Amino acid sequence: MNIKKPELLIPAGSLEVLKVAIDYGADAVYIGGQKFGLRAKAGNFTIEEMVEGADYVHAAGKKLYVTVNIFAHNDDLAGVREYFNQIKEAGLEEKIDAFIISDPGIFTLAKEIVPGIEIHISTQANNTNYLTYNFWYKMGATRVVAARELSLREIRTIRDNIPADMEIEAFMHGAMCISYSGRCLLSSYFTGRDANKGACTHPCRWKYSIVEEKRPGEYLPVEEDDRGTYIFNSKDLCMINYIPEMIEAGIDSFKIEGRMKTALYVAVVTRTYRQAIDDYYTSEELYRSRQDYYDEEISACTFRQFTTGFYFGKTDENSQIYDNNTYIKNYTYLGTVEDITDEGYLVIHQKNKFLVGDEISFMMFDGTNKDVRVEAIYDERMNSMDSAPHPKQLLYLKVSDNTDINKGMIIRSKHCEA
Ligand code: SF4
Repeated sequence: MNIKKPELLIPAGSLEVLKVAIDYGADAVYIGGQKFGLRAKAGNFTIEEMVEGADYVHAAGKKLYVTVNIFAHNDDLAGVREYFNQIKEAGLEEKIDAFIISDPGIFTLAKEIVPGIEIHISTQANNTNYLTYNFWYKMGATRVVAARELSLREIRTIRDNIPADMEIEAFMHGAMCISYSGRCLLSSYFTGRDANKGACTHPCRWKYSIVEEKRPGEYLPVEEDDRGTYIFNSKDLCMINYIPEMIEAGIDSFKIEGRMKTALYVAVVTRTYRQAIDDYYTSEELYRSRQDYYDEEISACTFRQFTTGFYFGKTDENSQIYDNNTYIKNYTYLGTVEDITDEGYLVIHQKNKFLVGDEISFMMFDGTNKDVRVEAIYDERMNSMDSAPHPKQLLYLKVSDNTDINKGMIIRSKHCEA
C-alpha cells in the first residue's frame, strides 16, 4: 500500500462553506477569487475573504488553493496582472499555497508577479500524457490535475514516467461535462455565456428535440420514455468504492468537484470521503465492510445518478441520464451552529423552515448523526416562536439533547424534496 495518504481536496464557494469543509475533514480547500476563476456564479472570494479563509485553513494545518483557470484573451491580461498585484499587496503570496492555472499566459504572469505561490495545472488544460506533465514540471509547476477523460491505467503510466515529487490530482466525485472538459461551446452558442470563462448555463442538462431541415419549427420528440430524453445529461462521478484503485494509480490528491455546492452537500461529501480514506488506511477489511454505509451517506445529499466516468475505460450509454435532469435530495439544510450560549441555546441563521416539535439531525464531526427534537425557537429578542418565517433569520434553539454539539456543525432534516 502507498503509505502516503492522498490529500482530500474540497471546493468552497464562500467562507461559510470553506469552514464547513475544514471542520468536516478536508486536507485542502480550493476557492475562486472574484476574477478569472471558472464558476462566475459561485460565491467567490474578495481579497479580504481570501485572507480570512487562508487564516482559517492554516490554523487547522490545512492548505488553500486559488483557481485562476480561465482561458485568457488579450483583453483579459491587464486585469490578470492587476489581480495578481492585489494579491501580492494583500500579503497573500505567503498565504495561498497554490494557484490552479490552465492558461500559459496566466502562468507566465503568476511566475513574474507572485513567484512565491506554487502553481498547479488545471484539468482545463487537458493534461492527458506524461510528456505534458514533464513539460509543466520543467516550467516550474508542482502538480498537474489529470484530465477527466483518462483511465486509471493511463494515470498509472503517467505516474511511472514523471518525477516522484510531481503530484497528480484527479477528480474523485462530482458533476461531469458531456463535452471534453474545458472544450465546450454549448453555453456560448445558446446563451452567449462562455463556459471557459466560468459562466456555463449548463445546456447539457436541457431537454432536446429534433428538427428536420425542410420542416422548420416542427419539433420531433426524442423519447426515452414518456418524459422525453436528456441526451447530453451525464451522471455524476463517484469513486468512493474505488479508493484502493485510485491510490494504486499513483494519485496524490483526491479532488471533489463543485464550487457552487451548498454547505450541506460539502459537509456530507467531505465527511464521508474523509471516513472512507481513513478507514482504508486503518484496514482494507474495515473499508470494504463499510461500503453500504458510504453509499447511503453520499446518497443523503443532492446528486444525480453515479458513474465511474472514464476511469475503467471508455464511457457508454450507461454514463448518461436520459429521462430527467433533476437532482435527488433526501435532506434539507436547516443551518449551521454558529455559537452556543452559556444557557445552552444554539445560535443559527435559518436556511430552511422548521417547527417546534420537528425532529432534526446534527452532523457530528466523528461521522455519526445526532437526532433530536426542537423544543423551543426564539428570535433575536428572545420572543418565543412556533417556527421561523424568514430565511436567514437569527434564531436561538433549545433542543432535547445538545450533548457534544459544537460550533460549525450542520443541522439538517429528513424532508424528501425529490
Ligand atoms: S454545457 Fe455541460 S458539457 Fe458544456 S461546459 Fe457546461 S456543464 Fe460542461
